[in-house]
Amino acid sequence: MSARRIVLLGPPGCGKGTQAALLSGALAVPAISTGEMLRDAVARGSELGRQVEAILASGRLVDDETMAGVVAERLDREDARLGFLLDGYPRTLSQAETLAGILDGQGSKLDAVLLFEVPEGVLVARALARRRADDNEAVIRERLRVYRSQTAPLIGRYEDEGLLRAIDGNQSVEAVTAALTAALGG
Ligand code: AMP
Repeated sequence: MSARRIVLLGPPGCGKGTQAALLSGALAVPAISTGEMLRDAVARGSELGRQVEAILASGRLVDDETMAGVVAERLDREDARLGFLLDGYPRTLSQAETLAGILDGQGSKLDAVLLFEVPEGVLVARALARRRADDNEAVIRERLRVYRSQTAPLIGRYEDEGLLRAIDGNQSVEAVTAALTAALGG
């Protein structure tokens, strides 16, 4: 498996976070979840946390500029220099541009974008079962709407770049890991 700079793309509840954690060990690169970073910031009560708390609770997206700062700082750390699994970033076309710019500045580029395909009804059921603080049904629906309108357009971009590899995310955790591993050439 040579691809090491990887974006995990897919709607909320599709299993990106679970798979990022599993693949992280196999690929020896950090799993970086922007949602997790923001929730940590909220829990710590940092300035960033105070700034984004209400947005997280609403299911909408934090603005691209704030996210650019968060991601640039994280990807600049030593442990991410040779690779990463990005879970939850980019989520807009503008964020995809920002990411390409950050990597370009490091003299690197993305190796692969793994798209998780899961039917929407399954996503709602999974999210309700998971019941994170921001997971009431109205918020889940809002997050799916935001995904369709703002994030799904990234699929075409990465397809055009020849980076996209779609996998069936509606399988057991083990089967999804196997599909991802195969998609990465391993
Ligand atoms: P997640 O855990 O990836 O589903 O993210 C939880 C929440 O954090 C999202 O609903 C957004 O409010 C916020 N968030 C995480 N990543 C991003 C991002 N790349 N751009 C904007 N908002 C984000």
